[in-house]
Amino acid sequence: MGLDEGQPAATVWDNPAEIIRSLQPEHPVLVFAPDVLEQRAREFIAGFPGLVTYAVKSNPDAAVIRNLVAAGITGFDVASPFEIDLIGRLAPHAARHYHNPVRSRAEIAHAVAAGIKAWSVDSRSELDKLFQQVPPEGCEISPRFKLPVPGAAYDFGSKFGATPELAAELLREVAARGYVPSLTFHPGTQCTDPAAWEQYIRTAAEIAAMAGVTPRRLNVGGGFPSWRVHGVEPDLRAIFELIGRTTARVFGHDAPVLVCEPGRGLCADAFAIITRVKAVRDGQSVFLNDGVYGSMNELPVIGNLDRVEVLTPQGEPRGENGPGRVVFGPTCDSVDRLPGEISLPENIAEGDYVIFHGAGAYSTVTNTRFNGFGELSQLTVRRFH
Ligand SMILES: *Cc1c(COP(=O)(O)O)cnc(C)c1O
Repeated sequence: MGLDEGQPAATVWDNPAEIIRSLQPEHPVLVFAPDVLEQRAREFIAGFPGLVTYAVKSNPDAAVIRNLVAAGITGFDVASPFEIDLIGRLAPHAARHYHNPVRSRAEIAHAVAAGIKAWSVDSRSELDKLFQQVPPEGCEISPRFKLPVPGAAYDFGSKFGATPELAAELLREVAARGYVPSLTFHPGTQCTDPAAWEQYIRTAAEIAAMAGVTPRRLNVGGGFPSWRVHGVEPDLRAIFELIGRTTARVFGHDAPVLVCEPGRGLCADAFAIITRVKAVRDGQSVFLNDGVYGSMNELPVIGNLDRVEVLTPQGEPRGENGPGRVVFGPTCDSVDRLPGEISLPENIAEGDYVIFHGAGAYSTVTNTRFNGFGELSQLTVRRFH
């Protein structure tokens, strides 16, 4: 049984069906299974050939952080003073990598004062800011590079990442100034093609050769996929093995220490969202009490969660999912619609509950109170079925 600080044992539910039967929740409920999170963390730690850190932004809930620490996670990717302080409080012995490549001078000063020793950077101007404010002793700076490779749900390279040529120049300057030189990249979130990592790692070796610098560490980013499509469970082990094999092959004796920073891949599958059907309008489109202004904010960008289950108010399965239907959220904005159509049981009815599995990443954090909706409670379960 996982830790879940702040919640007495009596409030651990058996599964979502029990919550539905007992509470008949009118507002969306996020259900958290600490055991699933710990199991996934152990899979990463055992399988990834290097240090596993957690990207806090994907779900910064205190129970998530504490359960990850209990499972053996010793490092975190943080992107803001808030996240730096959060991890400082919840996991005071953990490493914090400040891997948001653009920061204000005030943010840099906050991080230096908090003892941050690992930074990423993707431009000359931001590197100069670090040189001015961060003492080099024991400090790692990792140029972040990008490649035009497919595989992810959307393109991360449109905002961050230097070209390999610029990354080589930055790496050389980092080493010359006495900082620990490392490299990093992010293949893009929900990256289901392991070949993306292979190509990035090969380019990392080329950057090191161009710079004439041996990177101490190579951080292969997040992007590890969670289970979003019914019947298609991602094969993390295959990705881990390819990363290890490729690094050994292209770097040889000078292989850097590997680091990864999954967000979604660690936390998503440990949560489900219980939503309720407000209306089946004239037997056609379904209106839920949660939507893209709530905990499903990322779906229009990344695509639907396909692991959908419909239960009656008695907690019984409504039946096999049938033809696709248009699904709307509760607000008055017409943008508040899940992409495309979602396969739901033919006899779905007002008052039913629609459970979206694998919904722990980028859901709580992007929930708004638009139109007065967005009330979202969190309950703990032992299992999802
Ligand atoms: C968002 C982010 C991550 C986590 O990405 P996932 O796709 O959720 O694994 C890791 N590293 C950096 C620098 C990020 O910005």
